[in-house]
Amino acid sequence: MFFTPEDTRRRYAIIESSQFELVENLALPRVVEALGQSTVDAILEGNDQLYIPNIHNGELIIPRRYRNKNKIPVIAIDPGEEVHMSESVLIQTPAQKSQVNGYFQIAWERDNPLSKELVEEILPSKNPRIVSDETRRIHLNENLLGRVAVPQMYIDLSDAESLPAGNQKFVLFGRPVMAICTENRGYSMDSLFLHELIHVNQFRSKGITSYVKNEYYKDSINQELEAYHYHNAYDESVFDPSLDFWQSLIANRRRFLANMIELVRSSCADPDRPFEVNKEIYEELKFMNISWLPENVEF
Ligand SMILES: [Zn+2]
Repeated sequence: MFFTPEDTRRRYAIIESSQFELVENLALPRVVEALGQSTVDAILEGNDQLYIPNIHNGELIIPRRYRNKNKIPVIAIDPGEEVHMSESVLIQTPAQKSQVNGYFQIAWERDNPLSKELVEEILPSKNPRIVSDETRRIHLNENLLGRVAVPQMYIDLSDAESLPAGNQKFVLFGRPVMAICTENRGYSMDSLFLHELIHVNQFRSKGITSYVKNEYYKDSINQELEAYHYHNAYDESVFDPSLDFWQSLIANRRRFLANMIELVRSSCADPDRPFEVNKEIYEELKFMNISWLPENVEF
């Protein structure tokens, strides 16, 4: 992978036109009203952090000048193509590192015997432990037009001496990478771009989480519920009411999935925890055969 100058230009054009259209629409008062000013600001802030990286022999490398910055790579890939994340993508962004420090700070304040030395040792830039290779591959299967891939490092400290009982399994996140498909299959790419930017924001300053499999699965569903909520609100507010019957039918079909997922969420979610999955939502999504839904989640 990568590329003749024309091919590079083709990929740049796909990213830049989706981004351009999204930013233009986010300035429309009816879109701001539908999403809320703070969400629009957060999306634009995430968008400002994006940059288009070079890929060398199918490998994504974060250039040295960006390793200490919160920059997020965005790439356009063809269906079936695969990009591998180099070690440099495992290094956390400054925002992620500061969340990790805050996370353990709380543990120290509570007299949790996780020592500072131990934390230093497990920080990914020093010693990544168990890295699942699967989370270092960026590819889009046939159902996916975009995704945010995040390298994940599982850490099990249950064998470490002098640790309190309880969960001592963690997942450390590397730098997120946004990928969009070069084929839009009739879908509006600005909506897709917005959806993926919501995911970028979910990981931009998330460096660590405690790992309990079932909770971890639920989190992944919550992240989609949030992304689809804004995705659908964007689609509905951007929608041009002057379209004729056939045009609006086509536009509606493109919006179908986001619309269905949002319908399920909004009718079954607890209003105090709007993006938290529950049994009812999970069963409905399962019934809809949603491709990203993890199996056997317990409630
Ligand atoms: Zn998503």
